[in-house]
Amino acid sequence: MTDKKELYKQIPQVDKLLHNEILKNREFYRHEIIDAVKIVLDELRNDIKDGKIVNIPADDELALNALDLAFKRVDKDIRRVINATGVILHSNLGRACLSKAASEAIAETISSYCTLEYDINEGKRGDRTGGVEKYLKNITDCEASLIVNNNAAAVLLVLSAITAGGNVIVSRGELVEIGGGFRVPDIIMQCGCELREVGTTNKTRIDDYSSATDKNTKALLKVHSSNFKVVGFTESVSVSELAGLSKTHNIPLIEDIGSGALSDVRRYSLYEEPIVKESLQNGADIVTFSGDKLLGSLQCGIILGKKEYIDLMKKHPLYRAFRIDKVTIAALEATLRVYGDLQTAQRDIPVLRMLSFTEDELRSKAEKLCEEIRKHGVSVDVIKTKSVAGGGSVPGLELPSYAISPIGSGSTDETEKYLRKQKVPIIGRIENDRLLLDLRTIFDEDHEYIINTVASLIS
Ligand SMILES: *Cc1c(COP(=O)(O)O)cnc(C)c1O
Repeated sequence: MTDKKELYKQIPQVDKLLHNEILKNREFYRHEIIDAVKIVLDELRNDIKDGKIVNIPADDELALNALDLAFKRVDKDIRRVINATGVILHSNLGRACLSKAASEAIAETISSYCTLEYDINEGKRGDRTGGVEKYLKNITDCEASLIVNNNAAAVLLVLSAITAGGNVIVSRGELVEIGGGFRVPDIIMQCGCELREVGTTNKTRIDDYSSATDKNTKALLKVHSSNFKVVGFTESVSVSELAGLSKTHNIPLIEDIGSGALSDVRRYSLYEEPIVKESLQNGADIVTFSGDKLLGSLQCGIILGKKEYIDLMKKHPLYRAFRIDKVTIAALEATLRVYGDLQTAQRDIPVLRMLSFTEDELRSKAEKLCEEIRKHGVSVDVIKTKSVAGGGSVPGLELPSYAISPIGSGSTDETEKYLRKQKVPIIGRIENDRLLLDLRTIFDEDHEYIINTVASLIS
C-alpha cells in the first residue's frame, strides 16, 4: 500500500494547477477558479484520509474536475435558454423577449447616467414616466396613466387608492387565481375593502350587480379570466353594460384585463383577448394589465384611465413602493414607440412576430432545420403540432404549428435532458413519447446552434 504521507506529498500545489491550460477558461473569474481548485484538492485530501484512493490523478484530470465544479457552481444563475416549448409567453422562461431596440435602449441607459427624472430643456427635475405616458395616450386615447412593478401591484394600488373602507362588487366567475398566487379575493381583502361576490360560477347578470350596489360600494371590478375557461351554459356581463350601471350610480368601473393587447390581436386568432383601447372605449374608468405579456416589454403593471382616479393613486404611499426603475422605463418607451405603426410592431416585437407566423412559414422552417440536421446523420422528423400564447392569456386557444423531433440514441427522456443540460439549454416538450422542438418560439438566429447541438446527439 502506498503510504498516505507519500500521497499527500504528491498533491499538486494550487498555483501549479492554476497554470494548467484547461483552467485558462475565460468564462470564469480567477477567484471562481481558485475556489474550485481548492475544493477539488480538499476532496482529494479527504479521499486519501479515508483510504479511498491509491494514487493521485493526473493534473489534467484534477483541472477538469475543477472546471466542472466551477460550471456547477454557476448552474443556478439566470442565463439564456432556447425556448422550444411553443409557449410564447412562458412565465418560467421569462415571458416576453424584448425587441432589439428595447434591449439596446436598456444597455445604453444603464451603463451610464440617464434622464430618469431630469428635463433636458428646463435643466431641472423632470417627470419619471412622461415619455411612457405620451406613447400610451397616443396608442390608447387614455386620459392618464401610471406604471408600477407588475399587474398584481397595479390592482393592489388601484383598489387601495379608491375603494378602501367600502365594498367592491365582483362576479363569482371572476374570482380567479393567476399564476404564482395572485388571488383576487386575497388582494381585495389586503386593500381594506369588502369583497361583495355576485352571481354564480358560470352565470352572472347585470341585475346581480345592481341589487348588490349600495351607498358603500366604491367600485365595480371586472377581471379577465385569463388562465381558464368556463364552457357550456355561461353568462357574464359585458364592460359596456357594467359601464351603464357604474354611470348611474356614479361609481368607477375597474377592469383587470391581464394580458393587455395594444394592437388588435384578433388577426392572430386571439379572439377573446381584451384590447386596451376597446376596454376604455366600452366605458371602463380604469384598466390594468401586464407589461410583459402580449405587450412585449419588461415586467411592469400599467394602469390607464380617468385622471381623477390616477391622481388619487399617484398620491397613495403604495405608489412610491411600487414604482419602476430606469431599466423598465427604457424598455417600455422603446417598445411603445414601435406601436406607432402596427406593421413595424409585428416585425420588431418578438411576441407579435411569433404570433404572426403562418402554418406554412413554420413548416418550411421545420423542414429546412431537419434537412440540415440529417446531413449530420441524426434522424429527425417534422411534426405538426400546436403552440399556445401562454402567460395566462387566451385559455384553450391553440395555434397550429410545426416542430422537429430529433431521435437520439437513448430514450426520449434522455434526449430531452441532454438538450436541456447544454451550455445554452434547449427546452423542448415531450408529447406522445416524442421530444418536440416547436418552431414558433425559436429565433432564426438560434437555428445553427440547434443544428450543431442536435447533431452532437450521436457522438
Ligand atoms: C397575469 C395576470 C395578472 C398578474 O399580472 P403580473 O404582471 O404577473 O403581476 C393579474 N390579473 C390577470 C387577469 C392576469 O392575466
